[in-house]
Amino acid sequence: MFPSRRKAAQLPWEDGRQETSGPTRACPPEPPPEHWEEDASWGPHRLAVLVPFRERFEELLVFAPHMHRFLSRKKIHHHIYVLNQVDHFRFNRAALINVGFLESSNSTDYIAMHDVDLLPLNEELDYGFPEAGPFHVASPELHPLYHYKTYVGGILLLSKQHYQLCNGMSNRFWGWGREDDEFYRRIKGAGLQLFRPSGITTGYRTFRHLHDPAWRKRDQKRIAAQKQEQFKVDREGGLNTVKYHVASRTALSVAGAPCTVLNIMLDCDKTATPWCTFS
Ligand code: UDP
Ligand code: MN
Repeated sequence: MFPSRRKAAQLPWEDGRQETSGPTRACPPEPPPEHWEEDASWGPHRLAVLVPFRERFEELLVFAPHMHRFLSRKKIHHHIYVLNQVDHFRFNRAALINVGFLESSNSTDYIAMHDVDLLPLNEELDYGFPEAGPFHVASPELHPLYHYKTYVGGILLLSKQHYQLCNGMSNRFWGWGREDDEFYRRIKGAGLQLFRPSGITTGYRTFRHLHDPAWRKRDQKRIAAQKQEQFKVDREGGLNTVKYHVASRTALSVAGAPCTVLNIMLDCDKTATPWCTFS
C-alpha cells in the first residue's frame, strides 16, 4: 500500500464554495519563472496594468506571475501597478484607477483596469492596444458572474487618450459597486464605441475568479444619500479632481513578475461624499 499523503493546505477559494461556474478546483502551481526577451516583434505599445488593491495578498501572489506570463507569451510590453489603498476610508476602486493612471510611467500608452481576482485563462483573449475604442475583456458573455449588457467591470482596456477623454472615473464611489456602471455612461458620453472579444469559445470558463464571497465580503452598505447618488452620472469630477498622495512606491517582484506597489492615501471631501466612512 502507498502511504497516505497529507493533503496540501487549501486556499479559501479552493474549499468548494466558490461562487463561479468556472474551473472550481485549484489550478496547478505556476510554472517556474521563464525569461522573455523583448524584441522588435513585441510592437510599439506598452500596457500599464492597474490593479485596485486592498488586503488581497494571496490573490496577488497568484495574479502577478499569471499575468506576467500571460502577457509576455502574447508579446505585450507591460508593467503591473498594485494600487494599494492605505487610508482608512472605504474602498474606492475608481479613484485608485485614476491615481494609477496619473502615476503610471509615461512610457505606457494604454491601461488595463484589472481586478486582482480575475485571471484570463484563454490565450486567445486580446490584450493589444485598443486603438478603436475601449475594449472590455471581461465581457458579460465570458465573465463567470456578471451577465448584463452594459457591464464594463472586471477587466477593461483603454488607450490613455480615451481614458482622458472620459475624464477618467468618478471619485464618488466608496464601497462596492456602481463605479463601473457610471463609467459605461462616461464612455458613451465621450462618444466612444465599446468593443468586446469575439470568437472566444470558452464561455464562462474563460476566466478564473479567485473570490470566495464568504471570505472576501463585498462592502455593499449604502450610507445616507449614497442610495440615491449611486445612480447619478458625475459630470464634474474624475481624473481632474482626484485628491491623494502616494505614501510610498516600492518595486516588488512576485515570483519573477515585476510590479510597482503604490501605497495610496486617498482624500475624501466629507461634505460631498459623507459615505466615504462608516461613522
Ligand atoms: N478589491 C480589493 N480589496 C477590497 C475590495 C476590492 O483589492 O477590499 C479590488 C480587487 O482588485 C477586486 C476588485 O477590487 O478584484 C473588485 O472587487 P470585488 O472582487 O469585490 O468585486 P466583484 O467583481 O467580485 O463583485
Ligand atoms: Mn471578485
